[in-house]
Amino acid sequence: MLKRIFLMLFSFTFLNANTVEFAGKFEPGFLVFGKGEKIRQVMLDSKIVDVDENGYFVLGFDRDAKGPKYLKIKYESGKSFVKKINLPEREYKIQRINNMKQKYVTAPNTEEERIIKEREIIREAKKKIGEEKAALYKDGFMRPVSGGVLTSVFGSQRILNGVPRNAHNGLDFAAPTGTPVYAMADGRVILAADDFYYSGNFIILDHGQGLNSSYLHLSKKDVKEGDFVKKGDKIGEIGTTGRSTGPHLHWSVQWFGERTDPALLLNLDLPN
Ligand SMILES: [Zn+2]
Repeated sequence: MLKRIFLMLFSFTFLNANTVEFAGKFEPGFLVFGKGEKIRQVMLDSKIVDVDENGYFVLGFDRDAKGPKYLKIKYESGKSFVKKINLPEREYKIQRINNMKQKYVTAPNTEEERIIKEREIIREAKKKIGEEKAALYKDGFMRPVSGGVLTSVFGSQRILNGVPRNAHNGLDFAAPTGTPVYAMADGRVILAADDFYYSGNFIILDHGQGLNSSYLHLSKKDVKEGDFVKKGDKIGEIGTTGRSTGPHLHWSVQWFGERTDPALLLNLDLPN
């Protein structure tokens, strides 16, 4: 079962009575959504964070992010505010999967060229992330599959047949092939790929301001690159394409390349 993530909605009020409301967590693997008025610029360390005309912005901290980080908010009035973020250490589960077919643990040499090509296609598509400056996500989020069994949580360190592999960067929901997969939020399709070695048929959605989500191992896709989707639109169906041992949806959410926990979004009320 999904553990309920404690929801934090909080705000900082500054001397000049400018208030910024936040939802989320200043912790590794989490997103933070902000909204404020008369903001000129938001920066996280040296990175400029997009703020739309209504004052919405989002930022995220990678699974392995280390602090301290500095969030700086400059107002039109010329005043500014700096919040020091001490990111706590986060511990992740260790997930051991044994008796996995060797072809799922290490890719055979014959697939190397294909994997390199596919990686390049993904890299090219991800260059579009950040182009959309509007907070397309601002109507909130939903679970991309109704029902299903949560079989793997975010962040777990995977040890496949005794060999440590990359951490798991999303949530896995096991459900029968053909189960509908929905867009977690409004967004634009930046990649709708067929039959990749690792991810199978999959979709990447850009939700604006660097926020993006991926839906892997699909049996069927209902959208193509460039399509705009609304939260809850059916974008495909669960399958077991790519490196997958059974029908499931692998759902991941990133802010630019920062890997974050999709579970946070399921109990989150955005500031408005
Ligand atoms: Zn997964």
